[in-house]
Amino acid sequence: SNEPNSLVSDACVSYATLESINSEIRPAIQYLTNHVDFFTYYRLDLYGRECPFWSDDAGFCANRACAVELTDENDIPESWRSSELGKLEGPKASQPSPEVRKEEPSPFKGELGEDTAESCVFEPAEGDKRDYCVPEDEGNGNNCVYVSLLDNPERFTGYAGQSANNVWKAVYQENCFNTQAQAQAQKQSTNSQPFGAFGAGMPKAPVAADPNAAADLKNVMDRRKHEVVQKNLISPPPEEQCLEKRVFYKVVSGMHASISMHLCYDFFNQTTGEWGPNLQCYKSRLHNFPDRIQNMYFNYAILLRAISKLRKNLPQYTFCAGDKRTNEFTRKKLAALTDSIASHPSVFDESVMFRDENAAVLKEDFRTRFRNVSRLMDCVGCDKCRLWGKLQTSGYGTAMKILFEYDENEEGGNKNPVLRRTELVALVNTLGRLSNSLHAFTRFGAMIERERVIE
Ligand code: FAD
Repeated sequence: SNEPNSLVSDACVSYATLESINSEIRPAIQYLTNHVDFFTYYRLDLYGRECPFWSDDAGFCANRACAVELTDENDIPESWRSSELGKLEGPKASQPSPEVRKEEPSPFKGELGEDTAESCVFEPAEGDKRDYCVPEDEGNGNNCVYVSLLDNPERFTGYAGQSANNVWKAVYQENCFNTQAQAQAQKQSTNSQPFGAFGAGMPKAPVAADPNAAADLKNVMDRRKHEVVQKNLISPPPEEQCLEKRVFYKVVSGMHASISMHLCYDFFNQTTGEWGPNLQCYKSRLHNFPDRIQNMYFNYAILLRAISKLRKNLPQYTFCAGDKRTNEFTRKKLAALTDSIASHPSVFDESVMFRDENAAVLKEDFRTRFRNVSRLMDCVGCDKCRLWGKLQTSGYGTAMKILFEYDENEEGGNKNPVLRRTELVALVNTLGRLSNSLHAFTRFGAMIERERVIE
């Protein structure tokens, strides 16, 4: 098991320290995720995208617990509504060309002007090549919906079986990194992207940017479906694998562990009709798997580090254009969190990653693979699970973008990648999920201890 004072492997912090940081900052995280409007509404394409990997009509979950309640746009602060964005002739139409954009102040500085309805939803037309996820509210967002995260808590839904299993398997398959040579070859071939475990030896598979490409991709993926189901590739990478590959595995396994923790902690007891912790669920999925718990702590460490990197840039960020009071309030609350994280020694050192001579190829591969994990969320057959799966992959993607692409000392410059509103919302809520998971882990531990004493 994981000793409290031992270090979380590949991070520079102990379990005990992460727990004490969590006790300290949990109130600030809970305040942000429960009481600050900016962070409680998420905008995403929940229904509009087909699973690009296989067709899975049988996998849909019809339980009531799987359904998501949508939020009426009229209940959303005006400046965040897509109809408001419409006033700018649609965000795409008003998108400055990349050349023009270079001369403008960084959108992260929020200086698009007071008239801009939502400067925080500034969309790069094609996404940024430094993105680790497919942007959630891409384009003019016709398919996007607003969801209140408070009305749709992540908890037990009953979604399970082949469909859920296929998604997890495919997620772990992305961890089969190409050999360097394959990656190089794929990089050089135009119009093709390495496509995860599906990619090796496959016909060119353009990323699904337009409907035809999506159809091509789907055909290719349908042919591979058989293999996805057959091979059980859910095994951790061997220890000798390089740091970057280990980190990739830890991120997905830690996310999986955190999701399991939530569904066990907020479980539906069919006998009593009540929601609450289910110790048996915890025991069978997490208690006997210290590596899963360790990966969850690892994820908490990288999220802390990523959020603290934003600290110096927050003063310039516009959270809610046109509403100074809300803007200042949101900034102050987020700054309280980043300041208290920054008062501790750094818990993760991202500068040791992507350093050797193959770094550029490896990083591109890593990024592409994580984008594929984010696409896989469209294959999740339960709305509420899809919502939280999308939010959390976006949260980790944003964390990695900040860790690997963002210069925390670049205070006023244009070099840092844009952070969309959805990315910030996902980032903070993903930290919130992990914070709850650490808390639930302690509570389950106490329940097990009590059980032992009674015996
Ligand atoms: P699963 O959790 O499906 O795991 C499959 C296999 O993966 C296991 O047998 C094990 O070999 C391996 N494994 C498990 N955990 C880890 C880990 N941490 N690291 C490495 N390997 C691991 N259900 C809900 O009730 N509520 C939700 O909100 C929810 N969200 C989901 C989101 C996504 C993206 C997905 C794909 C599924 C979600 N589910 C949710 C379903 C849930 O995750 C399980 O798939 C389901 O409960 C069935 O569990 P299982 O015991 O078969 O194992």
